[in-house]
Amino acid sequence: MTSHCAKVGELLKIARRVLFITGAGVSAESQIPTFRGATAAFANGMTEDGLPFEEVLSAETFLNNPKLAWKYLSLLELSIRGKVPNQAHQVMAELQNQRRSIYVATQNIDELHQRAGSRNVLELHGNLRRIICTSCSYHVHLETFASIAKLPRCPQCDAVLRPDVVLYGESLPPNVLDAFEREQRQGFDLVFSVGTTSLFFYVIEPVVAAARRGVPVVEINPEQTPISDLADFRFSDPAGQTLQRLAQAAIG
Ligand code: NAD
Ligand code: ZN
Repeated sequence: MTSHCAKVGELLKIARRVLFITGAGVSAESQIPTFRGATAAFANGMTEDGLPFEEVLSAETFLNNPKLAWKYLSLLELSIRGKVPNQAHQVMAELQNQRRSIYVATQNIDELHQRAGSRNVLELHGNLRRIICTSCSYHVHLETFASIAKLPRCPQCDAVLRPDVVLYGESLPPNVLDAFEREQRQGFDLVFSVGTTSLFFYVIEPVVAAARRGVPVVEINPEQTPISDLADFRFSDPAGQTLQRLAQAAIG
């Protein structure tokens, strides 16, 4: 562990472009439940409406029964309301400097990387607080959903509003994917996967590509994941304290 820590610290010290791929585990220490944590709250993974979480938060449900989808989007909002960045978000932001660019490609929709000060954040699954109209260009950033209607409508055109997140069955935002691909083409010196089970190809692929090119891959996750075998370095302590130790090793 210590020697791994020193080695990754050395790599961080010389790296000019670093990619962090992050998932729900990064926000776990901000007391935001991970996906499995959230679904475990429902008996047999079923919501009280008798449908699995993936279904109530799907594009199809939003189209056919937007009020039902909003009910669960509001529950998600409740889980991030008032939550603040933790040590993991903070260390990633502090690692940015004149010589080292940090890119964060996150599956999280809670905006905590930006709140910690990370400048290059690629929100692969969107942002729950960004509300957009399903029909016109109206958009607004909402700090909380506390005072909005159960089925909010656009003040400009009366169409249904929605959070700018990727629902199950939807594609990733093309502008975010383009930006991610552009940065990958420029290459990274070091790639981290932190707190993600990473079953989506667009999260696994950059790790596979980095490993193929000989770019060191670091995984921080208490559990084994589909990319664990590709990682040159694995840390199974929580993300916050692990990143803090690695950042210290990069300074020392
Ligand atoms: P997941 O719940 O499938 O996996 C979470 C991962 O985090 C697990 O591998 C777990 O071992 C790891 N983990 C737990 N605590 C950790 C800690 N302290 N440090 C490091 N790792 C830790 O989540 P996922 O793979 O990110 O995918 C779930 C989907 O749900 C994503 O699409 C995401 O958009 C969404 N989601 C987002 C949030 C959020 O915005 N905070 C929260 C829950 C779910
Ligand atoms: Zn509108």
